[in-house]
Amino acid sequence: MTVFEKQNIIESVAAYVRVSTQEQKLHGLSLDAQKMKLEEYAKENNMKIVGWYVDEGVSGRKKIARRPELQRMIQDAEKGKFDRIIFIKLDRFFRSVAEYHECMKRIEPVLWTATEEQYNLTTANGRLLVNMKLTIAELEADQTGERIDLTNDYKVSTGQPLTGKMQIPWIICTDKETGRKKIVRNPETEQAITGAIDYCLKHQSKRKVVSYLKAKHNIDIAYNSVARILANPMLYGAYRDNPAYCEPYIDKDTFDRLQEIGKRNIKNNTAGNRSYLFSGMIKCPECNFTLAGCTQHRKTTAGNVLPYKKYRCDNQRKNSRCTFVKYISENVLERMLLADLEKHLENAKISAANVLDAEDNGMKQFDIDEINEQIERLNYSWRTGKIKKVEQYEKDFAELTEKLEAAEREHNTVEVKDFSKIEKILEGGWREVYNSLDDEHKRSFWRSVIQSIEINWNDTKKEITRVNFF
Ligand SMILES: [Zn+2]
Repeated sequence: MTVFEKQNIIESVAAYVRVSTQEQKLHGLSLDAQKMKLEEYAKENNMKIVGWYVDEGVSGRKKIARRPELQRMIQDAEKGKFDRIIFIKLDRFFRSVAEYHECMKRIEPVLWTATEEQYNLTTANGRLLVNMKLTIAELEADQTGERIDLTNDYKVSTGQPLTGKMQIPWIICTDKETGRKKIVRNPETEQAITGAIDYCLKHQSKRKVVSYLKAKHNIDIAYNSVARILANPMLYGAYRDNPAYCEPYIDKDTFDRLQEIGKRNIKNNTAGNRSYLFSGMIKCPECNFTLAGCTQHRKTTAGNVLPYKKYRCDNQRKNSRCTFVKYISENVLERMLLADLEKHLENAKISAANVLDAEDNGMKQFDIDEINEQIERLNYSWRTGKIKKVEQYEKDFAELTEKLEAAEREHNTVEVKDFSKIEKILEGGWREVYNSLDDEHKRSFWRSVIQSIEINWNDTKKEITRVNFF
């Protein structure tokens, strides 16, 4: 068969599309966009789409059994209705290694193609790459979880805080009418924040706001925090897709004008930070600030100028509030981690086991039981008329349930840490696969595995003393 003839064979394919509610809202990764891309791809590659399988509002974490269209597609594959499945990216198809393999067994000999990614499944490394990407996706979903986002969705849409900690312009209070928590301007800092916004607009400098706040309002705040506050859409009341999430300071127009100030710097900063493999993972040993990535250019002995990435303390460099001037290069850090990741994982497992031994789980369960009993006693008193005032009952009830939630949260956090997924990622030739990843996936890899890195900043030889895994 000549190449020409081969090209004229039209392959029957199934097109699979999946989007979760959250993704559709946040990332505009719409069904239509995916469909269009797949149609184009099919046209360009002599494929005929014989079936569309569309799982809408379905998170990739959902089990095969709960993705109806995927089910139907597998059944059609078993019936031999098509030769290949196409989707745009592997994470549309699966975010779980186990389910991927289960599915592969069933659809054989049907092949698949991720139209926007490249995998060569005929090689061992290609298959390992698939495993690795699936594991990364699985770990990512575990942590930042679409699941968590879904429960938070409701809170955001009703203007409720997601955490107990607010930036200084805001505080949490209880709405008298609904009884729900809401976010309002902090009366203690309100004047200072309004002043800071005016000052910033007038002088066109975010940096100057730091000294303004110190001099006029006696508020000691680092530049980074000021910049974060002034860039927060909550200033005009918006958070995620709720435009009226909290009490605003300014309108959207004023906010937009505020964002124009020093735009180039900010843009560089955030765009830059995304390209650092370990940003957010290392703390300054002196001031506990998170070390920031930065890029410098260095001349090699051969005379070439090469970018050189390193991590250092911005609290020292920008705020002059710290004296720690040491830094660590990204290459060195990456090399050290690649060399010893298994060793660090072993150590983490040992210390996790020790923590668990020391942790008195029984005591916490005892706390929870005790609070539950208190709630029952309170309800009993209320039912039998021992408590006269409804306000008193409601206040006590709210206090106890809050205590209960806190105790349960604490109880949950001492669950046995599960390293098995991370261990799975470190099987076989993972280093080779790692080296074949692009920067974005390298970054995803580290971010899905490592929470923080502790370093011994010895003058002669820097060492990683501890890696904290997720
Ligand atoms: Zn520092």
